[in-house]
Amino acid sequence: MQKPIITIIGAGLVGSLLATLLAQRGFKVNVFERRPDPRRAGFLGGRSINLALAERGWNGLRIAGMQERMQSIAVMMRGRMVHDTNGRTNLQRYGRDDSEVIWSVSRGALNMALVDAAEAAGATVMFDRGLAGVDWSDMRLEFRDRDGNTHMHQSPVVIGADGAGSALRSEMARQLDLGERFEPLGHGYKELEIPALRDFPAGSLPSPLIAATAHGDSYAMEPNALHIWPRGNYMCIALPNAEGSFTVTLFLPNDGDPSLASVADADAAESLFQRDFPDALPLIPELRKDYMGNPTGLLGTLYLDRWQLDGRALLVGDASHAIVPFHGQGMNSGFEDAVELADLLESNPGDTRAVFAEFEKRRKPNANAIAAMALENYIEMRDRVDDADYLVMRELDRVLADRHPGRWVPRYWMVTFSRIPYRIAFERGEIQSAWLREWTHGKSGIDELDLAAIDAYVKDNLEFLPTYA
Ligand code: FAD
Repeated sequence: MQKPIITIIGAGLVGSLLATLLAQRGFKVNVFERRPDPRRAGFLGGRSINLALAERGWNGLRIAGMQERMQSIAVMMRGRMVHDTNGRTNLQRYGRDDSEVIWSVSRGALNMALVDAAEAAGATVMFDRGLAGVDWSDMRLEFRDRDGNTHMHQSPVVIGADGAGSALRSEMARQLDLGERFEPLGHGYKELEIPALRDFPAGSLPSPLIAATAHGDSYAMEPNALHIWPRGNYMCIALPNAEGSFTVTLFLPNDGDPSLASVADADAAESLFQRDFPDALPLIPELRKDYMGNPTGLLGTLYLDRWQLDGRALLVGDASHAIVPFHGQGMNSGFEDAVELADLLESNPGDTRAVFAEFEKRRKPNANAIAAMALENYIEMRDRVDDADYLVMRELDRVLADRHPGRWVPRYWMVTFSRIPYRIAFERGEIQSAWLREWTHGKSGIDELDLAAIDAYVKDNLEFLPTYA
């Protein structure tokens, strides 16, 4: 069956992976990207400097043949390193061992590697071409370059991987009510930097912190962890970068105290860190400059009732389901979109109407599920990870996973270390956490529980999970 020529809008993370997968399957693919070529102009990210890559993301990279290249620059994160207000730390492992971890990767390095891969597979990537309009009557796409020149391109099929502010989505909405709604989180973020140890001004690190570097060559904190400073309604996190630094993200409500509104200048930012993040403060020498100089990121969830327009246009990745970043799954779910769409198109290349409808039907319940779990995870990260009752629940969750392999799988594991559809992870997670809450209510340790009775209940009431390759 004849394969249609496919145009992709956006050579970000999802667009360039999709281009690679389609070109590898013999489709002719043209990609148009608004920004200049990052390999020449430098990467203009505008968003988090690094990201957490988990199994769903790795799967996409493996299929594209990129695992080795990315593995060499990814930093393993074994668990959450929780920092209390006294500077004490506690590592909560994510999985059972080092096969169940997540990885921190540079957004810029990953995006550039993906663009290389797309071109190597045969896709044509055109930079400095921002989608400005679509004439749906003859499928003519209008692009603008940075000098304001117009470039036209005709394509029977167009896929929007142009992110949360998608221009293709706006054009589709002129033809069809997409049922779009954006729910702001009411919280935003600022990025700050903990430099590599070698970049600290001589003598500027207090000695106890220097001692803490013994386990990681050039890092100012334990490198193989995702650091969290949970503070109730707000938090800081830090992810390691391959060259020894950490990117710190301070998440704050938009209003109230403290908030992005109340922490309005460098003095207020420093006071907040002195009070709430005292162990992090000496590690961020440019706190004042970073806080004032870096843009404030806005967060929210995008929901659409419809992702596609009668076989001619489809939205993928953040363009159709942008979520809050607290499960580290936005890119991972977008990579899953790319794999699923490439498989569907390969199996039925002559009927994009059927393929796009099937893609939407399969992916939308999963997108809604990860959107809900990402919102819940914000509360868990900022408020729960150091609560005694949470820790008992978490311990029982893991004990049951050992006692009932394949039947009881903690929700975080299903989302992060497996490719079980998000919808199933969400539904199972709801059931499991209701039971965990009931069994651990008022208990201070799992030795107070009747594990034999719990085992019997689990066996009677929880099916084995189907396996997903
Ligand atoms: P984008 O990455 O936004 O790419 C869109 C591309 O389209 C860009 O290159 C853009 O320049 C281009 N474009 C835009 N408009 C046009 C136009 N008109 N014409 C042509 N091109 C255009 N996800 C994870 O999996 N793990 C994490 O740890 C994680 N952390 C995050 C932390 C933060 C603070 C944030 C905000 C997000 C995080 N995410 C994470 C989510 C992740 O960043 C997104 O899900 C991912 O970038 C989506 O990829 P995308 O290709 O769909 O969109």
